[in-house]
Amino acid sequence: MSIRLDNISKQFGKFEALSPLSLDINNGEMIGLLGPSGSGKTTLLRIIAGLENANTGTIHFGDHDVTNVHVRERRVGFVFQNYALFRHMTVADNVAFGLQVMERALRPSPAEMSKRVKQLLEIVQLGHLAARYPEQLSGGQKQRIALARALATKPEVLLLDEPFGALDAKVRKDLRRWLRNLHDELGFTSVFVTHDQDEALELSDRVVVMSNGKIEQVDSPVELYAHPNSRFVFDFFGNVN
Ligand code: ADP
Repeated sequence: MSIRLDNISKQFGKFEALSPLSLDINNGEMIGLLGPSGSGKTTLLRIIAGLENANTGTIHFGDHDVTNVHVRERRVGFVFQNYALFRHMTVADNVAFGLQVMERALRPSPAEMSKRVKQLLEIVQLGHLAARYPEQLSGGQKQRIALARALATKPEVLLLDEPFGALDAKVRKDLRRWLRNLHDELGFTSVFVTHDQDEALELSDRVVVMSNGKIEQVDSPVELYAHPNSRFVFDFFGNVN
C-alpha cells in the first residue's frame, strides 16, 4: 500500500508540532523516521495511523483518501515501544485481542479465531508460548507478541514507534534483522520511529530525517550517509563522517 501525505500540519494549542509537510511512501517500502526527541516523529506516525487528526492536509492510502477515516477502518498495525500487552491475558488471548478489535462484520468466528492466533504465533515463531503470560517472557519475546497482535488484522501498513527502544543492544540487532525479513516476506509497507541512527540506516529503504516539526531530508541510507544536506543532518551523523 502506498501512502501519500500532502501538506500535513499539526498544532497543539499554539505550538506547531508539525509544519506543513508532504511525503510519498512507496508500496512495500520500509521508512525510518529519524530525529531527536521532540522533532515530531511520533506525532506524524499517529497521524498516519489515524490516532491523531492533522490540522491541515490529506492522507491517501493508495487511491483511497483516508484523511477522515477512523483508525479502526484504516487497517494499520501499530507496535508501541513498551509492548502494551495485557498482563492478565495469556499470549494467545493478547493476540486474539488484535482480532477482536476488527469491525464486527470482519471478525472471525471463535474457531477461525483460534486458528488465526496459532498462525500468527507461528509467524513470530513463538507458538510454544501461547499459554504463558507476558511477565513470563523476555523483552524481545514480548515485542514479537506485540507484533503478532498488530498483524492480526492483516494490515497492509505497519507502524512502529521506537519498537526496540526498551531492549538491550544484542536483542535489538537480532530483532531488527528479523523485522526486516518479516517485512520483506509479508510485503507490507512499514514506517518506524527511531532516534537511533544505526537502526535507521540498517533497516530503512529510505530515511526521513526530522527536526523541529519539519522534514530535513529524505534519502536512502547510502545517500544520506554520503550527502547529509543540512547542518542538522550533518551534526546528526557527525560522529560517523
Ligand atoms: P518525537 O516523537 O520526535 O519525540 P513528538 O511527536 O512526540 O516528537 O512531539 C513533538 C512535539 O509535540 C513535542 O514538543 C511534544 O512535547 C509536543 N506534543 C506531542 N504530543 C502532544 C500533546 N498531546 N499535547 C501537547 N504537545 C504535544
